[in-house]
Amino acid sequence: MNSTTQQKSLLTQAMNLCKQRKANLTPQRLEVLRLIVQQQRAISAYDLLDKLRIAKPQAKPPTVYRALDFLLAQGLIHRVESTNSYVLCHHFLEPAHTSVLFICDCCGSVIEHPTTDIKQILLELAKQDGFVLRHSVVEVDGLCSSCADHRMVTNSSAAVG
Ligand SMILES: [Zn+2]
Ligand SMILES: [Zn+2]
Repeated sequence: MNSTTQQKSLLTQAMNLCKQRKANLTPQRLEVLRLIVQQQRAISAYDLLDKLRIAKPQAKPPTVYRALDFLLAQGLIHRVESTNSYVLCHHFLEPAHTSVLFICDCCGSVIEHPTTDIKQILLELAKQDGFVLRHSVVEVDGLCSSCADHRMVTNSSAAVG
């Protein structure tokens, strides 16, 4: 999904953003972000630790969790609650966006789709409770287009056969 050039420019944007905010994107945190940027799917903290250990065998779970907390606080990544994993936010330059995450049950791919309609509904609901929204994410599971196509092909060939 992200070419090497795209990955580099995403990382540069993230570095600039942190610099502007005077947030300390340490080499360790940058490395965790780099690993997340390389993934096509959401990745769990344990898988991140495994990858981090290839370059830094002494890395421990708290290293990864601290880096993830920082990246979440900066809005650079999203936590996918339903699968307890992490995915790059493709809209981190818009700090208060509302997104729908479409998570494929079949291949695990995650598509982030920013939306203003849902945000409007959430804002109205929140207003009723005097609640101040920050960064909201709606997660929806299902099948991505290629898995849905594949399933349709399988079903129709089964029906014919
Ligand atoms: Zn996002
Ligand atoms: Zn899929």
